[in-house]
Amino acid sequence: MPATVALFRDYPYMKACAARVTRVEGDVLCLDRTVFYPQGGGQPGDTGVLRLPDGTIRLVVDTRKSDDGAEILHILSPGPGLIEPGMLLDTVIDWRRRYKFMRLHTALHLLSSFVPGRISGAQIGEDKGRIDFALDEGAKLDKDELQFCLNQAVAQDMPVTIDWVGDEELDKRPDLIRTFTVRPPVGQGRVRLVRIGEADLQPCGGTHVSALGEIGPLAISRIENKGRHNRRVIVELADSQVND
Ligand SMILES: [Zn+2]
Repeated sequence: MPATVALFRDYPYMKACAARVTRVEGDVLCLDRTVFYPQGGGQPGDTGVLRLPDGTIRLVVDTRKSDDGAEILHILSPGPGLIEPGMLLDTVIDWRRRYKFMRLHTALHLLSSFVPGRISGAQIGEDKGRIDFALDEGAKLDKDELQFCLNQAVAQDMPVTIDWVGDEELDKRPDLIRTFTVRPPVGQGRVRLVRIGEADLQPCGGTHVSALGEIGPLAISRIENKGRHNRRVIVELADSQVND
C-alpha cells in the first residue's frame, strides 16, 4: 500500500487539508496525505472530522500507524456516507486538543534538559503530561526548582527548530539519545532532531511548538518515586482552565 505523506511532520501548524482516499476497510481509512498525527512517542493520535463530497461529515476518533509504519490509519466512528478509494475528502483536526499536546510535548523535552538521567517513559494527556526518569547516581529532584527552571525558559521564549543528522553521526553521539523506550527512527539515512535553543537537542518525530513562549505557564504537580532511582514528574499547563 502507498505510504501516507505525513504533513504534520514538516507543517505541525497545518490544521486541515484535502486528501484522497487510498484504502478503506471497515472503520479504518487511509489517505494519500494527512495532517492527523498517529499515536506514538507518548502522544495520543489526533481526532477530527472529514467531509465527503456530498457534504456528509464523519468523525475521526483516533489515528494510528500501520504495523509497518508506512500508512497512517484514521479510525472513524460509525456513520452514514459511503467512502471509496479515489474520493477527495476535506479533513480537519481537533486543533484545540492537538495544540495542547504540542505545548505539553515540547514542555517534556524542556523538562528533560534539566534532569540528570535517562528518560524511561513519557505520556501526554490533554492538560498534563508525565515523564519518567532513571536518575543518575546521587541525583535529586526538587519540585520548586524544576518548576522555576521550566517557567524561566518559557519566559525566555527560546526557538524550537528541527535539525537533521546522518545515522552515522548519531552513532557517534550517543549522548543525544536520552530515552530507553523510544528508539530514534534510524535506517532512513538521516534522523530528525528537535532543538530547543541551546538548552536541548534530541531525536524526535513528534509535533512541537515553534517557540517556548507558546507553552505558557507550567506547574509541576507531583514528583513520584517509582523505585530507588526512578522518578515520575507530572507537568500541567497552568493556564488550561483560563483558556477553556
Ligand atoms: Zn518531541
